[in-house]
Amino acid sequence: MNEEPVKMKPQPEYSQPFYRKLRGYAFDPSFSATLNKRRLNEVTYKIKWEPTSPGPIGEYVEVIDYDPTKKCFYKPVTLDAPFVLADHGLNLSDGDPRFHQQQVYAVVMSVINQFEKALGRKIIWSKVTKNVKDPNSAEEKKSDYSNLFIPRLRIYPHAMRQQNAYYSPEKNALLFGYFKASGNWDGNNVPGATVFTCLSPDIVAHETAHAILHTIHPYLTKDTNPDMLAFHEGFADIIALLQRFTFKAVVEDQIKSSRGDMLSPENLLGDLAIQFGQAVSGNRRALRSFLVEKDELGNWTNMTPDPTKFHTVTEPHSRGGLLVAAVFDAFTKLYKFRVADLIRLASNGTGVLAQGEIDPDLVKRLSEEACNIAEKLMLICIRALDYCPPVDLTFGDYLRAIVTADLQFNPDDEEGLRYAMLESFRSWGIIPAEVNTFSVESLKWKAPDDLLYQIEGKHQDNQTNLDNLVKTIKFAFDPKFSAEYKMPSNPNFNRVLGFIERILRENDREVIFKQSQDLAKIVHELFDEQIEMSAGTEALLGMNFKGCTYTDPQESGDAMEKPLQLVAQPRNIFQVYKCRPMIMPDPKSGNSIKTMLIMFLQKVHVNLKGSRYQGYFEDNQFAFHGGASIIIDMANYEIRYTINKSVNSSERLFRQLDYAIANQPDEGNNALMMQGDEPFAALHIH
Ligand SMILES: [Zn+2]
Repeated sequence: MNEEPVKMKPQPEYSQPFYRKLRGYAFDPSFSATLNKRRLNEVTYKIKWEPTSPGPIGEYVEVIDYDPTKKCFYKPVTLDAPFVLADHGLNLSDGDPRFHQQQVYAVVMSVINQFEKALGRKIIWSKVTKNVKDPNSAEEKKSDYSNLFIPRLRIYPHAMRQQNAYYSPEKNALLFGYFKASGNWDGNNVPGATVFTCLSPDIVAHETAHAILHTIHPYLTKDTNPDMLAFHEGFADIIALLQRFTFKAVVEDQIKSSRGDMLSPENLLGDLAIQFGQAVSGNRRALRSFLVEKDELGNWTNMTPDPTKFHTVTEPHSRGGLLVAAVFDAFTKLYKFRVADLIRLASNGTGVLAQGEIDPDLVKRLSEEACNIAEKLMLICIRALDYCPPVDLTFGDYLRAIVTADLQFNPDDEEGLRYAMLESFRSWGIIPAEVNTFSVESLKWKAPDDLLYQIEGKHQDNQTNLDNLVKTIKFAFDPKFSAEYKMPSNPNFNRVLGFIERILRENDREVIFKQSQDLAKIVHELFDEQIEMSAGTEALLGMNFKGCTYTDPQESGDAMEKPLQLVAQPRNIFQVYKCRPMIMPDPKSGNSIKTMLIMFLQKVHVNLKGSRYQGYFEDNQFAFHGGASIIIDMANYEIRYTINKSVNSSERLFRQLDYAIANQPDEGNNALMMQGDEPFAALHIH
């Protein structure tokens, strides 16, 4: 009998996987000292799939394993090799540099994935460089700086033989050191064993967060107030600590061993870089701890909010620690609140759990709550970056950014997230100076009309000034401009529209970058032509083209003595250094919110000759930066928020001058030097 062969439907090609799974450490190698912990310490990182070449080299990063101490390149790992792919990457190994490359790649990429998820857009590396004037060109540059696209962040897992790891903006790289642990049996470290900072997910996540923060906000590395470098450190620590909550098994184990108490000294979830801290110094529990502290007797106790520290702690890591503590305080408050019912149910209503191990189902539920809160806090801490001023950021500004961003994405605050943050920041003394009441309403950034009212008082020109700014924005973006204003429309309108659409749907990061730059250039030209018409517009954008006079806001004490006045010459050069359309889902309506973020920046030179500040700065001039981030609602082209740090502010200028002089370079501690090429290197030696 002749049977027809069964016809098989032609199979499509295999589709690309969504994730790449890679094995790695959850804490660091020292945590694996016991058998039970070893099992927990091995986790699988799930990162977005991308093809890689040996390195690994992917779209965002390239791992370059050159060891300058040994003057050699280590063989790069090939993550796409079939045997490596089939086994979720290489086995955990302290001694195999290829595993080090895999670990560092997995952590960096998972942090990048988190940021992209929170911001709803791709992370693009770029670098601000000073324009060199072409002597043969008569054309005067309208901006002193350019923004360059950088395809990949470089990662050196064995960059130095030092107790250090840092992000280098100059080299556009993360540099990880290695060193021998101290000679004593400290913590879980074996005396004299080598500690690799690239194997610590906390350290890697911390440095990655620096790099991302720097590409989003290139001007936040200037040491213009005590919060600036501290913010970089605190923010990087927040990301490093919260990313750990992506591993459910790790959280479950910690909840189990601390019997559900987030504040138990047993809990390691608030400890950062445990191995590094213990290897550097014998009696440390970790590099930094945020849930517990040592009391006078040397016992670990719960960290209690201390608002006085906000006025006394200045070293950037310690000061950054106050920000982390405030966020973690909110975290523990929310956790306690959210699990109270579960604890009551599990304790027959007493709220006190019986002795012994807690029920595994309860552990699971408590962990779910902890992970859920951590994820939401991470989202809001990252999203707040788009609501920060471009320069001279303070912790208070960051709180305002958190509140504003959260209002946009979580208007109801049913879970009390916003209120927990508010309460915790207040109990740590982080209170913005310029707000009258500590409420959501007064903390959220102002809409432009309220801001103008605040700056200029009740002024009849206010409305005209604001109308001028809105008109310029509508001229740039609104297709109905011509009909509404009975005026000719923007001749560049179609190009602008083309750029916006391309940026929103494009996948190629270089194309997105170039199109955003072109868009920023058009917006710059537009404002450059129109802005001089209106002083109020300048006030809203934190700029001034006509020259500023600054009066010392501090009383001299002597009634006869006139307050000090300083002057900056008129300067009409400014930058539009970011112009980024964004689409984010609106949690309330299910629709999407289309906004545009534009950042303006201006530098003026304040003349210090003859004043008490004479002799401290080059040519007796002080470069004073100001500007604004504005967020435009693209549904109606209205400005939703204006977040500005004005070049007109006397208070800000004198505060910056006093701060710069108090932090004058000396042999040991050179704060101004940190503004140089490696702002983070000096900060990371512990
Ligand atoms: Zn750092």
